[in-house]
Amino acid sequence: MTALELQNLTFRYGRDAAVHGVSLSLQPGDCYGFLGHNGAGKTTVLRLALGLLRPATGSIRIHGIDALAEPRRARAAVGALVERPGFHLAATAQQNLAWLARLQGMRRTLAAAEAARTLELVGLAAQADRAAGSFSLGMRQRLGVAQALLGRPRLLLLDEPSNGLDPEGIADLRRLLRQLAGEGTAVLLSSHLLQELEGLCTRIGVLREGRMVVEGGLDDLRRQIGARHVVAGRPLPALAQRLRDLGLAPETVGNRLLVALDGRQPGAVARELTAIGDLAEFAPEPATLEAIYLRATNGQPQPGDRPPVHAAGKAPAPADAALLPVPVPAPRWRAFAHELRTLRAARTIAPLLLAPAAFALWSVFAYRHAVHGALDRVRAGELFSADAGSGHLAMARALQAALPVLALGLLWLASQSVAADLAADTLRNTLVRSLRRLDVLLGKLGALLVAAGLGYATTVLVAALAAGLAFGFGDLEEVSRRGDRQVLAAAADVAGAHWQALRHGVLPLAAVVAVGLCASALVRRPTRALAVALLLVLGPELLRDGLRDEAGWLLTSHLPTGLRDDSALGFLAAVARGAADALWPWAEFAVGAPLAWFAAAVVVAALALQRRRVG
Ligand code: ATP
Repeated sequence: MTALELQNLTFRYGRDAAVHGVSLSLQPGDCYGFLGHNGAGKTTVLRLALGLLRPATGSIRIHGIDALAEPRRARAAVGALVERPGFHLAATAQQNLAWLARLQGMRRTLAAAEAARTLELVGLAAQADRAAGSFSLGMRQRLGVAQALLGRPRLLLLDEPSNGLDPEGIADLRRLLRQLAGEGTAVLLSSHLLQELEGLCTRIGVLREGRMVVEGGLDDLRRQIGARHVVAGRPLPALAQRLRDLGLAPETVGNRLLVALDGRQPGAVARELTAIGDLAEFAPEPATLEAIYLRATNGQPQPGDRPPVHAAGKAPAPADAALLPVPVPAPRWRAFAHELRTLRAARTIAPLLLAPAAFALWSVFAYRHAVHGALDRVRAGELFSADAGSGHLAMARALQAALPVLALGLLWLASQSVAADLAADTLRNTLVRSLRRLDVLLGKLGALLVAAGLGYATTVLVAALAAGLAFGFGDLEEVSRRGDRQVLAAAADVAGAHWQALRHGVLPLAAVVAVGLCASALVRRPTRALAVALLLVLGPELLRDGLRDEAGWLLTSHLPTGLRDDSALGFLAAVARGAADALWPWAEFAVGAPLAWFAAAVVVAALALQRRRVG
């Protein structure tokens, strides 16, 4: 079964065609050298093969599976390194690889073992516990190769893998790739270093301005190229003319001519040339890879350049059993678990989730201090009466202080999710692990919602504990100078509003997360993503006056903002204070509005991520 078969691939970046009708094929055990000048289109072809870009025309089959129709299944056994490898810089090399191995569906112990194995293969075992951020360019490249080897892929696509490697690293990589090809892995590597491919690759393809000008087995190409002669001497134009007079078609390459003798005797041709000039060189063209490459890139694309597609010199294909498609374990669950792991490891997550709780705590103690102060003044005869405080009111105030902080934190976290991945080039590592973009987006959304839930639960719990300890959840009473106590708000009446406020805090926070995620998918730069997220949540406030009775559709009508609170929480605060005329103005929008924001933001995020170029 062919490991990779690209047929007639075409792709445009905007109006510029980067790849035109490219076809190539790799068998198991092939080591394929992909050559071409800067900007020829090599990386684009690899991105297309990996599903990071969608071709305008053509087909992609990986291990016999149509990768355009079944991308996850087709790419289940593909390892890839494309351009600059991106990693979580604060995490160690071992941690980064173990996360990616788990993202591929491995269990914890297997993932750790696989990470250690691949680090050993690329010579980074001694650096396993160092943060990826402290790695040199070459070490990061080795780590990039290691991540491509996770799970022993049967097809390996490597874009300039020796970039930044020292000579030992290049030699090690050659040995490794030769060994993998010998074991039946199909390896495709793009490179500018012809020496790197010489003696390693069994097949090559040369791209020129997005078109494949040469493609095939190296031995066949050598035979073809060896059929030409190099001619050097003076005057070169006269020598070229003489060759044309003999019915040959010389090609000028620098200060030499290349000519196929078309069955003529070399000695006879040489005699013709010495008769009209000074012949300095007349010899068969050396059949190096460089000669093949230069001929392909200097000459015009010629259909006749294409040798038979299946060349000799391949390693034997592995047993059929090894070619069975590997299963693709629950992609969304893998993506969700991966996002949770990376979130948990982020240094910012703990302060972000605890800061709102700290605000709640501070608010309860400030309120307690104020209540005690007022009661002291009543006892001292300075005030006629003061309320004795209640847990319900303390908690409403605490949440009014804490929820804007939590919402802001979540907005920041969500707005960084896709944008930071794009900026750090880590999204590509995720997407090439047989996941669709929607899987990744839903994984991120799920993990962010878990973070939001944890943050909310912690805040509510801390507020409830502090308020309960400080006041208890009894009635709110007014205490007069004479010691009379009068109930301002009965606990039984407030309890209903309290549960209501806690319940209705959940959906707006989920909507804030979705809006942040949406901004993150819309804008590539993390700081701009945060600015867009803030604008999406706070910007519509400018419409409040115009919306009048419809202002319930604003997200800020359902969350305290620090400036105003029209939400269920504001209503609770008023009820807990004993206000007889307490109103919850947007009660009828309490479910519909945040749900609409949530759904719209997720849909826009999905569409935006679908269109986003992940290089
Ligand atoms: P190099 O060897 O320098 O990496 P390459 O052969 O890999 O080059 P590609 O990166 O595939 O070439 O680029 C092919 C063409 O597509 C070039 O003309 C390049 O300018 C263009 N191109 C690549 N990426 C983008 C992009 N994100 N937006 C617009 N054009 C692009």
